[in-house]
This record gives sequence, C-alpha cells and structure tokens, in this order.
Amino acid sequence: MTPGSLLEIAHPKEHPFLATLAGRLAAGTLIRGNEPMAKRTTLRVGGPADIYVEPVSELDLAIILRFCAESRLKFFLLGRGSNLVVRDGGFRGVVICLTHPEFSRIAVEGETLICGAGARLKDVANAARRAGVAGLEFLAGIPGSVGGALHMNAGAMGGAIAELIAGVRVMDFGGTTRDLKSGEITFTYRTCATLQNHIALAARLRGRSDLGAAIERRMSTFNEKRWSAQPSAPSAGCAFKNPDGMSAGKLIDELGLKGTRVGGAVVSAEHGNFIVNDGGATAGDVLQLIELVKERVRTLRAVELQMEVKIVGDEP
Ligand SMILES: Cc1cc2nc3c(=O)[nH]c(=O)nc-3n(C[C@H](O)[C@H](O)[C@H](O)COP(=O)(O)OP(=O)(O)OC[C@H]3O[C@@H](n4cnc5c(N)ncnc54)[C@H](O)[C@@H]3O)c2cc1C
Repeated sequence: MTPGSLLEIAHPKEHPFLATLAGRLAAGTLIRGNEPMAKRTTLRVGGPADIYVEPVSELDLAIILRFCAESRLKFFLLGRGSNLVVRDGGFRGVVICLTHPEFSRIAVEGETLICGAGARLKDVANAARRAGVAGLEFLAGIPGSVGGALHMNAGAMGGAIAELIAGVRVMDFGGTTRDLKSGEITFTYRTCATLQNHIALAARLRGRSDLGAAIERRMSTFNEKRWSAQPSAPSAGCAFKNPDGMSAGKLIDELGLKGTRVGGAVVSAEHGNFIVNDGGATAGDVLQLIELVKERVRTLRAVELQMEVKIVGDEP
C-alpha cells in the first residue's frame, strides 16, 4: 500500500504502473485498477479501464498527465459518461475523472456562476435558479458535467453552453494551467476545438437576472418537452449529429428504423436518434447498430451521418 493516495487493489493482474503512479499522488486522490466503465457511463456498456483516477487537486492532475507522458500511457478525460460508448475491451491506459468535490464546486457572483468541471449540469441550473440567474435553464435536463458539456458544446431548447461562457480555466496536456477569456475559446456545433488538447478545470457561466418563479416555469416547460420526446432507458443521448438543415432523428424515423435491434441495443421507439440499452447490450451490439443505421441512411438518402457520441477504448 502506498502512503499517499487511496489505492484500491481489486485484481491480481494490476497494471504495472498502478502502484508507481499511486505513490506520487496525494491522500484523497482515488486510484483503482481494472475499473469497469459500464458502471460509469449512462449507456451501461464498456470494459474496464486499466487505471482509473479521481485527482484531488490541479497539482495531482498535472502529476498524472506528466506520468502518462513519461510512461507513454494513453489517457482519457471522463465526465459523467453520458455521451460515450466505451468499447468492450475497455481502455488500455488511464481514465481521469474530475468528480472530486474540489472540482465540483459551484459559486455565484452576481449573474455569473463559477463552476468546477466536475459539477453536474443539473446542480448548476438549480444553483442559477436559486440565485435568480436566468439563461441556464436548458442545462437542467442534460445529464452531464460542466467539463463534458464544454467539450461537447452541449445544448438544448435553442441554447448552447458556448453562449454562456465568460471564461474557462484549462490545463494543457503538459500540466500547465491558463485562464482563457470567452474570445479565446473556439466552439462550433457539438464541439470545442480548444478542448481537443486541453482539459477544462472550471468555467464562468454568465446569465441574466430574472425572477426565480419565471426561471422555475421555464425549467418545468423544458423538462416536460424533453420527457415527452426522450426515452428513459439507458442511452448516451443523441447518437448522431443533425446533418445540415435536417433532424437525424426524423431521418431515421422516416426510414422506418425505429425498433431496429442488434442484441440488446435498439433504436428507441420514442426518438430515432437514441440508441438504448434494452438490457444486457454490449458495446459491440451498439456499434453494429450504429453502422447498420449509417449504412441505411447512406444508401437510402445519400446522407453520411456523423457521430455525436464519442466512441472510445479498445476492441476486446
Ligand atoms: C438521456 C440523455 C439526454 C441528453 N440530452 C442532451 C441534450 O439535450 N443536449 C446535449 O448537448 N447533449 C445531451 N446528451 C449528451 C450528454 O449528456 C452531453 O454531451 C454532456 O455534455 C456530456 O457530459 P459528460 O460529463 O457526461 O461527458 P462525457 O460523456 O463523460 O464525455 C464527453 C466528452 O467530453 C470530454 N470531457 C469530459 N470532461 C472533460 C473535461 N473536464 N475537459 C475536457 N474534456 C472533457 C470527454 O473526454 C469526452 O470526449 C444527453 C445524454 C443523455 C444520456
């Protein structure tokens, strides 16, 4: 056992670097070997990560990144796993998750919310409502973290997180931090160029003042709209980006693909752009179904669907 981090040995064939990395990290940083990713993704599929770590501080995050570089280990930033398909082979490397309370704080300064990357979007929206800050209502129904939402430029009900940004604190992959102003961060539809080679640590989200009751009303309306159109079974949200001027869900529906199944993975009957885990699905089932849908849409409509969900990890 190492003196510092919370190392949990759960498997006899641990990664050879696990104990060395654990020995460099502070008390409070959680580190595990062979951590199943299925339990950390909303789709509930995916094999284990060789090493899983929840750093307690920016310093430990930087130590992890530098260790990965010197040991030539791959790493991946996990938010709340709500936009991910992790392959059945899991992840040969280090999965880093900023879910520690140190990275999940939410503070209010006037009409600005300062949110750690690990904060849940729902908690951010509720904090804004309590403080009488409007404009963040659409975040309430997106089951992700602030870091994941920034990476994805998450949006709903006509809004997107990019429109709220006053600044983002980031760390580059070498472990150096910087505070970026809104103009220094590049967002486009469901992506953020800046976060392809940076990790989001925290964001300043700016809203506008309004009455709590009006904010609450908008949140309820958004909620009702969402749950009347979205399946409750495990999913990773919309599988595909909307092609220019088209709705991917409508396209899939028009082609009669709702209900199409591979193993335990099914195109939702409620929303054509959701692939749900109907129980016991593997990532292999999901990926085969994705290919099947793409092929039908390509053949029948000459449209090449682009993925919105991120597919990560290794083949079994
Ligand atoms: C039921 C359901 C409904 C959904 N509805 C919507 C919706 O209305 N609108 C919408 O846009 N999305 C929606 N989604 C998709 C998903 O919730 C969003 O994309 C969300 O922002 C992902 O956040 P996450 O924390 O789960 O990220 P993850 O899925 O864990 O990761 C997504 C990406 O972000 C990266 N990432 C995570 N944290 C960081 C960080 N700190 N710094 C840099 N990169 C990071 C990851 O490496 C990965 O590439 C929905 C999903 C589900 C399951």
